[in-house]
Amino acid sequence: ARRPLIAGNWKMNGLRADGLKLVEGLIAHLREGDQPFDMLVCPPMTLVADVAAASTASTLLVGGQDCHQNEKGAHTGDTSAWMLKDVGATHVIVGHSERRADHAESSEVVKAKAGAAHAAGLTAIICIGETEDERDRGEALAVVSGQLLDSLPDGATPDNTVIAYEPVWAIGTGKTATPDDVAEMHGEIRKKAHEKLGSEANRLRILYGGSVKPANAEELLALTDVDGALVGGASLKVEDFWAIAKAA
Ligand code: 13P
Repeated sequence: ARRPLIAGNWKMNGLRADGLKLVEGLIAHLREGDQPFDMLVCPPMTLVADVAAASTASTLLVGGQDCHQNEKGAHTGDTSAWMLKDVGATHVIVGHSERRADHAESSEVVKAKAGAAHAAGLTAIICIGETEDERDRGEALAVVSGQLLDSLPDGATPDNTVIAYEPVWAIGTGKTATPDDVAEMHGEIRKKAHEKLGSEANRLRILYGGSVKPANAEELLALTDVDGALVGGASLKVEDFWAIAKAA
């Protein structure tokens, strides 16, 4: 069985005091006992080191929200996967739709970033998802399959790679895909992943993201091919994020 991963993407939210308080609350919950899920938080770059330091004596995992595809060099404002690893991160999100849109990241770039994450010893969480227009045109499956195959680097395995399916129209909108749609997309994503990973695709964790909240978490996380959640807004509140995790 695949162990669920409950991941929080804080996006560009959190000053140090808020971030550390949030993490303290999550760690207190994790210490209540063994949990049947892994919990990851991805704070803004300014807090990755602090949050990782605060989490060392707990099971809470820490990741970045993006990395550059190179190890170092003249890339003002960027952060490498090795730098994230250096300050205690174990994961990094790559190819989030906000990066694909705001920074024109192609799947080719996302693939290079995931490859860099692997080379640095990080698990890459590769995000894929269709826009509302693409879904309305009946292209959701084709778009998502294309992103998956184009973004997965050589050497990807279920141990160093997680997929997050995030329909763009469901992010931050309060609209969630229906359980039927999510079940169908996740099933198809796993099928496609077989083309690259062979039978190992059965071990691949595929997270759902897009307006996940305590009220819908149980229904979504119960679906066969949903192996966790990538949570935005609701990951900024200890009790909401914890309630989502407990639904896993
Ligand atoms: P929301 O949970 O705020 O919709 O964000 C989802 C997301 O983009 C997580 O990466």
